[in-house]
Amino acid sequence: MADQRIYAGDLTRQEFAERVDQGNLRAAIVPTGATEQHNEHLEMIHDTLHVTHIAGQAALRLFPQVVVATPIPIGVSEHWMAHRGTLTVRPEIFCEYVFDVCHSLQRAGIRNILILNGHGGNVKPLMRRLEEYQDKLQVNLRFNSYWDVYDPVLVRQYMELGRLPGHACEYETSTMLALEPQRVHVAAIRNEGAAAATRDKGEALLEPAIAGVADVLRRMIAGEEIDLPPVTFRAEGRVHMLTGEVL
Ligand SMILES: [Zn+2]
Repeated sequence: MADQRIYAGDLTRQEFAERVDQGNLRAAIVPTGATEQHNEHLEMIHDTLHVTHIAGQAALRLFPQVVVATPIPIGVSEHWMAHRGTLTVRPEIFCEYVFDVCHSLQRAGIRNILILNGHGGNVKPLMRRLEEYQDKLQVNLRFNSYWDVYDPVLVRQYMELGRLPGHACEYETSTMLALEPQRVHVAAIRNEGAAAATRDKGEALLEPAIAGVADVLRRMIAGEEIDLPPVTFRAEGRVHMLTGEVL
């Protein structure tokens, strides 16, 4: 069977070095997730699983040019600590940890690094440090959440509440119904958004996320400028996550 290994950790040191030295390996994804409460019906690992799936599928499409670093499974979730079981790290620790992973990849010769995020609470802390990290690493370093790539028209078409990713709501419940339905505890659904979730919506929205992330990587490798602000989708539209402006 053809070699389709896309996780850095699945390669031996020699295989990794050869891929870089032969010019086959051009970019890396560092997935950042969370382990936090996701209401009564979704499991706490949701964001980490979701972003890892999208990272892996995007890397496969560009194989062997992209490798996926071991995902970072705990993020900034202080706002959910009232719900026991949530795991959080302080923003400064989280950012420095992510930086060190990126620094490791830079030291290994990777010139394009995409921090691909799957948890809203990680966005502001990392965006505040991004320029500093770009200066320090002197590589093509980007930070985006996987949902930043969505076309607002598509979001409106499938999400009755207009929200994406939301939290344990219509989108996340739909995508998990498509990915690993046994992880959606349907009988425990309590919120209106999650009740509107379907497997079909999840399937319709997973593919464009994978294609969009693969495209970001392709353009990073090609050295193209990429204008992709950190956003979230709400009923009022596509909202910039730092400025609150509707785009
Ligand atoms: Zn989530």
